[in-house]
Amino acid sequence: MFIGMDDTDSNERMCTTYLAVLIADALEKEGFGTVSGYVHLIRLNPSVPYKTRGNAALGFEFNPAADSAEFRTKLISFVSGKIIEYAETECEKTNPGAVFIFEENDSELKNRLNLFFKKAVTDLVEIDEAQQLLSQYFIPHLSLKNGRGLIGALAVCGALMNPGWDETYEYLAYRFPEKWNGTAVLPRFVDTNSLIAADKATYPKTWDTVDYSEKKNPFPVCVPGSGDPVLFGLRGESPEVVLEAAERVVSEPVYLSAVFKTNQGTDAHLISVGNVTEMQPLHSYILTGTVVHSSKTNEGGHDIFVIQDQTGNLLECAAFEPTGSFRKVIRALASNDSVTVYGSFKNNTLNLEKIEVLSLTSIFAFENPTCPACQKRMESAGKGQGFRCRNCKTKSGDKIKIPVPRKIKVGFYEVPPSARRHLSKPLIRMKIH
Ligand SMILES: [Zn+2]
Repeated sequence: MFIGMDDTDSNERMCTTYLAVLIADALEKEGFGTVSGYVHLIRLNPSVPYKTRGNAALGFEFNPAADSAEFRTKLISFVSGKIIEYAETECEKTNPGAVFIFEENDSELKNRLNLFFKKAVTDLVEIDEAQQLLSQYFIPHLSLKNGRGLIGALAVCGALMNPGWDETYEYLAYRFPEKWNGTAVLPRFVDTNSLIAADKATYPKTWDTVDYSEKKNPFPVCVPGSGDPVLFGLRGESPEVVLEAAERVVSEPVYLSAVFKTNQGTDAHLISVGNVTEMQPLHSYILTGTVVHSSKTNEGGHDIFVIQDQTGNLLECAAFEPTGSFRKVIRALASNDSVTVYGSFKNNTLNLEKIEVLSLTSIFAFENPTCPACQKRMESAGKGQGFRCRNCKTKSGDKIKIPVPRKIKVGFYEVPPSARRHLSKPLIRMKIH
C-alpha cells in the first residue's frame, strides 16, 4: 500500500518531512507493518500561490502486517490521528491532506496517478480534481480544512507507484523538539567548516551544501532558519553519498535523521516551448530566443532583458537581486545573442533559474583612426571632413571599426545555490548526466 500526505506545516513551524518520518517510525514501532524503500519527498509546481514553504509532498510504500478491513481502518485512524496531532492547522495556509492507497496493482489507477503527479509538478491542479479521483477509486483519505493537501498526497502516491523518473536524495537531520517547539526557538549550531569539509569530500556527487559565490565568505545554504525542525539537509545523487557527507558534519545533537528519495534538482517542473504564446502564468519553461534589448540594472537591483522567439514574440526575462553575481552574466548579454532561458513565468516575466548562451554576436566600437606617422589618435577635421593629425599633417577618411571583447562565453550559467529553486537542476548534475 501507499501513504501520501501534504500541507501540514506553517510558514514558521513544523515540516511535513519530519511528520512523515515520525509517522513511518511510529507505524513500525506499533506493529502495523514495515516501510518499504525510502520516504519520498516530492516537490510540486513551485509557482503555485497557495503553498506554505517549499511545496513538498511526502509519502512512502508500506507493507501492512495484516490485510483485513478492520486492520486497514485501524491503520488509517492511527496515521490520521498523528497528522491531526502535529499539523499546524491554525496557520491560515495550512490545509492538511493524506491518502491511503491499498489497490496497488490497479493499473488504471496507477496511470491516472502518474498523470496527476506530472500535472502537480508542472501545472495547476484544483482540489476538485483530487476529490474526483478519491471518489472514483474509493480511496480512503483525511482532509482537514479545505483539504488542499490532498493534491500533494495523491501526487506523491503517483510518484511512488510509477518509479523511473529522474531521482536525487536528501539527508535531513532534525533538532531535538525542545529546541524548536518551545516558546522560543533556540539558536542552531552547525559548524560551517565541517559543512565545507563535507562538501569538498563529496562534491560533485552532492551539491548546494555551501554557497561559494562570494569567494571570501562562503556560507551554508543547507541550514534553514526559524522554527523549522530541520537542523541541516544534504542533497546528492545517491543515498550512500549523502550519508557519507552527513558523517562529516559537526553540529548540535541530532534527534532524528532520514534519507529521502526526491525529485529535487531534476528540472521536472520545466516545460519546453518553441513560442512565447504557448506560455501560461504560474508555469515554468525552457525557451530559445534572440536578445533584442540588453539589460540595465533597475533601482531594485533587478536585471531585465528582452528576447524574441522564432516568430517574433517578445519575452521579458529577469534576474532578480537575490541572484547576485548571476546578474553580471545577464548584463553582459547584447542584442542578437542567441540564448535558451529556463525559469518560471509570472507577471509576464520569466524569472530566470539558468541560461544557456548559444552564440554571441560580434560587437564593434568605432574610433578615430591613428596617424600613420606618429601613431597618435587623429582628430576630427570638421564635420564631413574626415580626420587629421595636426603635427604630421596626415589625413584619413573614416572612423575605424574595432572589435570589443565580450565578457561572457558560450555555455550555461546558473543562479547561485542560495537562490536556487528546489526543483532546479544544478549545472553540475547536467554535466554528470
Ligand atoms: Zn601624426
